[in-house]
Amino acid sequence: MRKNYLLTPGPTPLPPQVCEAMSRPIIHHRTPQFQAILKEANEGLKYAFQTQNDVFILASSGTGAMEAAVANLLSAGDTALVVQAGKFGERWTELCKAYGVTAEVISVEWGKAVDPAQIQKSLKANPKIKAVFTTLCETSTGVATDIEAIGKIVKDGEAALVVDAISGLGAIDLKSDAWGVDMVVSGSQKGLMLPPGLGFISLSSKAMKLIEASKSPKYYFDLRKAKKAIDKTDTPFTPAITLIIALVEVLRMMKQDGLENIFSRHRKMADATRAAVKALGLVLFAPDAASDAVTAAVVPQGLDGEKLVKTMRDTYGVTIAGGQDEMKGKLIRIAHMGFIEELDIIAGISCLEKVLTQMGYKFQLGAGVKAAEEVFLK
Ligand SMILES: *Cc1c(COP(=O)(O)O)cnc(C)c1O
Repeated sequence: MRKNYLLTPGPTPLPPQVCEAMSRPIIHHRTPQFQAILKEANEGLKYAFQTQNDVFILASSGTGAMEAAVANLLSAGDTALVVQAGKFGERWTELCKAYGVTAEVISVEWGKAVDPAQIQKSLKANPKIKAVFTTLCETSTGVATDIEAIGKIVKDGEAALVVDAISGLGAIDLKSDAWGVDMVVSGSQKGLMLPPGLGFISLSSKAMKLIEASKSPKYYFDLRKAKKAIDKTDTPFTPAITLIIALVEVLRMMKQDGLENIFSRHRKMADATRAAVKALGLVLFAPDAASDAVTAAVVPQGLDGEKLVKTMRDTYGVTIAGGQDEMKGKLIRIAHMGFIEELDIIAGISCLEKVLTQMGYKFQLGAGVKAAEEVFLK
């Protein structure tokens, strides 16, 4: 017997209400019964996304919604500005390439956040830019982007602001309408506490105008079809019925908790995790722009980071994430988003201490747990 703890930046643990909802018998989607569910989902998503705009539900992972954003907003030959501060920023660049869109890239060192002034400079220098692609929480580095500041810069121009909020939504604040975000892209398996399989995308009227003009090839992800359907509380194709039923449970939970409480809970979890890893003598990878959704810390010199993650998972059942691409083996990433509570963090830190000790790393045993407890007791 073993109890497992999932502390990865997607997928994240499922609340019991979600598991229960998914075990119900399937129903048909062209029925008043499902239409009522879809209506509640569509309304609840507006609350979670902090927008009055439509939020479309796609049957895809988050990347499908990212692809839908590029394919619907732009055409081959268009120019877009991409903030690339890690693996997921790079995905915007790759998607632009796939659709023949010229990506003007602002390259940011891994572990740092973009300076919004750079976006202002690029927009001024190139009036052809039709969209600005950004990432709310760059999951590969644990960095949070200042979307509010970027929104102020992009708002009054021609370009649409697109935010990949796949790992941030439901964990950290994103005032979509108030900050002037035209397209928010998300996915189900991170802050939204669901299994993978749903993509989400919200559209402002500015985005809608660009969509009307886009000539990129698309069929399944054609948001004009999705718009026609949502106006009748319908979906263009068979929706992921079971996941949407579970989504309604999540949205009810979120409304009951309230967004402010959800964000402050995540902040506390993040503060505790950061305090704990620092108490172990580990260095935060993004000390100046650390996201409250996931904490990235540098693996101490001489230790095998991949072995650390593997031992925690395979010997003790605690799954955290390692580094990706250029940071492979050099980072640990502990997620604290979604259905994660104080004792999950304590379990994760305790296990980290145990395996670090076994690997010969020297520190005061218990220092991480103590530091986390002190944050929780505040
Ligand atoms: C997880 C993640 C993605 C990819 O989402 P998938 O659901 O795996 O397609 C994209 N961007 C960010 C910021 C993520 O955290």
